[in-house]
Amino acid sequence: MNIQMVDLKSQYQKLQEEIDTAVLEVIRSTAFINGPKVRDFQANLESYLGAKHVIPCANGTDALQVALMGLGLKPGDEVIVPAFTYVATAEVIALLGLRPLMVDVDQDSFNVTADIIEKAITPNTKAIVPVNLFGQSCDMEAIMEIANKHNLWVVEDNAQAIGADYTFSDGRSQKTGTIGHIGCTSFYPSKNLGAYGDGGALYTNDDELAEQLRKIANHGQSKRYYHDMVGVNSRLDSIQAAILDIKLRYLDEYATARQQAADYYDQAFANIEQLQTPYRHPKSTHVFHQYTLMVKDGRRDELQTYLKEQGIPSMIYYPVPLYKQEAYKAAMANDIDSLPVTETLCDSVISLPMHSEMTEDMLKHISQAVLDFFA
Ligand SMILES: *Cc1c(COP(=O)(O)O)cnc(C)c1O
Repeated sequence: MNIQMVDLKSQYQKLQEEIDTAVLEVIRSTAFINGPKVRDFQANLESYLGAKHVIPCANGTDALQVALMGLGLKPGDEVIVPAFTYVATAEVIALLGLRPLMVDVDQDSFNVTADIIEKAITPNTKAIVPVNLFGQSCDMEAIMEIANKHNLWVVEDNAQAIGADYTFSDGRSQKTGTIGHIGCTSFYPSKNLGAYGDGGALYTNDDELAEQLRKIANHGQSKRYYHDMVGVNSRLDSIQAAILDIKLRYLDEYATARQQAADYYDQAFANIEQLQTPYRHPKSTHVFHQYTLMVKDGRRDELQTYLKEQGIPSMIYYPVPLYKQEAYKAAMANDIDSLPVTETLCDSVISLPMHSEMTEDMLKHISQAVLDFFA
C-alpha cells in the first residue's frame, strides 16, 4: 500500500479536466498577472469566508509580513506569538525590527489562550498573532476580549485552518481568520486549500486596513507610479488563482474527508492510554490540516521508527521550540529558559498521514500499526 503524508496527485486526478482547462485558458489569455482569474478568486473567497476584503498575495509568509506592516508599528514594539508554531510567524516579526514575545501554549489544544496572552502583555506589547494550529481555531472570542481590553491588534495566522468555523457565545458563527483585525492564509500546495505553487491571502473586514494592505502589497502605490510608502511586491499569479478558484468549490468536501479520517483515527486510538488524540474545541470545527497525537510515554521517536519500518510516513511538527532557534535569540523580547508545554510537545507530538484522499484501507493499516506498537 502506497501511503503518503499528503496525496496531491489523486486529488488532482479527480479535477484534472477542470483544472487543465482553467490553466490553459490563462496561458492562452496571457493575463498572467492581476488577470480576471485573480479578481474572480478574490470575490469567491470573500463570499466563502464572509469577509469584506480579501487581498491575494504571493505566499503565507508575505501575508503575515504585509499584515504587520499595515499596523503602523514602530521598531521595538512587541508582538505576542506562540513558541509552538511554524517559523514564518516569528520570522516576519523579527524581519520588521519588531520583537517577538514568545509564549507557551495549552497542552490540550496546542494553541495560545487568552490567559497565557494576558499574563505576557507588557507596556510595549502592540499586537498578538494567534495561530490556529493544525486546523483547530484558538478561542478567538476570549482572545478578542483581551485584545480590546489592552488595545492590541490581532493578526490571525490562519495558514492551517482555512474553512474552519468558530461559534461565539451568542450563537453567531464566523470563519476563522475573519475574527481578528487581519487574517492571513497560505496556499502552499499541502495546505487545506493548496495551489500548484506558492500563494497566500490576507482578509479583513476593515475598509481602511484593506486599502492600506493592498497598497503595501503593491509597492506602496495606490496610483501607478505614485508611491506613498515603501511596500513590497507580493502578488498571487493568475494561474494559481484559476486553480484555487476551482479547488475552493471543494474545500468543504475536503474538510469533511479530513474530519472523517480524524474520526477513524480517534476511535482506533480511544483506548490507548499512552496517546492523547487531538482536542476538538466545543466552539469550533477542526479542519485537520494535521492529525497530531501526543505520545505520553516518551516513545515518540520509537513509534516513528516503527511506522517507517512498516512503510508509513509520519512527521514531527515541530521538533524545536522557536525560542531555541539560534536565529531568534537576539530578536526576542523576553528571556526564556523554558516554556514547559512547548518543550513537552516538541518532544512528544507526531503527525500521521492526513489528506482529502485517505481511504478506509489506509486508515485501517496505519491505525493497526500504531495499535501493534503499543500492544
Ligand atoms: C505554511 C505556514 C505559513 C507560511 O506560509 P507560506 O505560504 O509557506 O509562506 C505561516 N504560518 C503557518 C502556521 C503555516 O503553517
